[in-house]
Amino acid sequence: MALSKEAKKELEKEGYRIIGNHSAVKICRWTKKSIRDEGVCFKEQFYGIKSHLCCQMTCSLINCQNHCIHCWRNLRYTYSNEVKDPDSPKEIVDGCIQAQRKLLEGFKILPETKYKTVSKANMKKWEEAQEPMHFSISLSGEPTLYSKIGELIAEIRSRGKTSFLVTNGLYPEKIKELAIKKQLPTQLTVSVNSPNKELYVKFHRSSKKDAWEILNETLEILSGLGSRTVFRMNLVKDLNMEDEHVKEYAELIKKAKPMFVHVKGFVSVGFARQRLGYERMPNHKEIKNFAKKLARETDLKVLDEHERSRVCVLGKNKSDMKIKTGEI
Ligand code: SF4
Repeated sequence: MALSKEAKKELEKEGYRIIGNHSAVKICRWTKKSIRDEGVCFKEQFYGIKSHLCCQMTCSLINCQNHCIHCWRNLRYTYSNEVKDPDSPKEIVDGCIQAQRKLLEGFKILPETKYKTVSKANMKKWEEAQEPMHFSISLSGEPTLYSKIGELIAEIRSRGKTSFLVTNGLYPEKIKELAIKKQLPTQLTVSVNSPNKELYVKFHRSSKKDAWEILNETLEILSGLGSRTVFRMNLVKDLNMEDEHVKEYAELIKKAKPMFVHVKGFVSVGFARQRLGYERMPNHKEIKNFAKKLARETDLKVLDEHERSRVCVLGKNKSDMKIKTGEI
């Protein structure tokens, strides 16, 4: 199913720039903040990627098997099948960089101008941002539904850039294929927002039969990858962060043996607000308490936290966190 004119228009109004048949870029608010020296995102703080050099993109804009209730995207334009007529990885990476540059034009401070500039950009960072060095493959949709995802990651890596891929874990064969072909991203994140099948069905409203069992298959695969992996939880008050859930999440974490666990508070923004209001957003203290309980159950430590994003990261060693040159 191709992107309709109506959908394209609406997404561009929301700040997306469409690239080819099925990809898009949107400047992350943390990239903007960093260019204005107003702070960096938790992934820069935790892992050392640079928020101002980050390209937030997708290669599967409207393709996802799930309709998660916490999703801030417009689920009206979501199709569960594989991406049709896949564009080439080179076209996508080139298109992303060009679109990112265009979107950042507004930040530029023109030297000789009689008009008072409103931009508060740090122009050294703005210059550097013309060449994004990190690709965050998490803007929307399920990236493993793009059949050339491995080649896309290889293309990004061949340019000396890092890639973070976030998956819903419903395509274990593709994860296996990436491992065999040595096309795993710099860091692979699997979203796990439910401690058990009953809540999974309610939370993800998946079009995929046996989605819970398939996710568990992916968690098994994760345990054997030996690369940088993250088990990411998005917690909603009075839904998926009750005390009785701690042990269940701990069992899933022990199955996946991830390098890191992200315990993150849900954000009531975008289209998610229609389903879950501000009162369902846990504060940082509630997130930290839940993270501490989980750490006790999993024999992991709370390695760091980012209060503004209401997230804590669990793991074994703080020294593993920063990405080392050989790991891109
Ligand atoms: S890594 Fe994520 S949060 Fe950080 S700047 Fe990129 S898209 Fe934004």
